[in-house]
Amino acid sequence: MRIILMGPPGAGKGTQGERLVEELKIPHISTGDMFRRAMTEGTQLGKKAREYMEKGELVPDEVTIGIVKERLLADDCQTGFMLDGFPRTVPQADALDKLLNEINQELDAVIYIRMPEEDLISRMTGRRVCRQCGATYHSVFAPPKAAGVCDKCQGEVYQREDDKIDTVENRLKVYLKNTQPLIDFYKEKGLLKEIDGNQDMEMVFKDIGRSLGRKW
Ligand SMILES: [Zn+2]
Repeated sequence: MRIILMGPPGAGKGTQGERLVEELKIPHISTGDMFRRAMTEGTQLGKKAREYMEKGELVPDEVTIGIVKERLLADDCQTGFMLDGFPRTVPQADALDKLLNEINQELDAVIYIRMPEEDLISRMTGRRVCRQCGATYHSVFAPPKAAGVCDKCQGEVYQREDDKIDTVENRLKVYLKNTQPLIDFYKEKGLLKEIDGNQDMEMVFKDIGRSLGRKW
């Protein structure tokens, strides 16, 4: 099965993605991993990507697409894959279409985990982290036993700058604005599966299964 997994920050995409690749026995292809692999293996494109990154510049689409192609041609992708973090824009989605065509593959579904903005904001701004061991908590759903103190190591539990309301709102706004055209693109192709992320994680996973014609 060949799928793309999408969802705003805070919608539980990470957890669902992990279970999904395990259940479907397909590789999880995240943009970060893909770049690291190309750079470690020292492929032509990996070297090119490194040059841009070292200069602090954005890696151009043609290099990114090339890296995606190398990855999708690898043995472990021949029975399927789950793309995560790519494509990010409509031009990238277009390029992915052409690429899949070229290698005689076809997407089965694009899963989008949807959640109301205010719920995403409360999930994300509630996140708390232990300064010492990195354990994560949630001020409402999973607070530490003693306020501000880590259960595991007694370290200080605090709110990261990234999780403060202004940053969260801004990050979300940017994500939603950039993602909407991509959602429309896949909707038009009849590939989009919108999943209600505002429910129990178990239910979200079941819904994803159902949308793929699988029962688990
Ligand atoms: Zn701790």
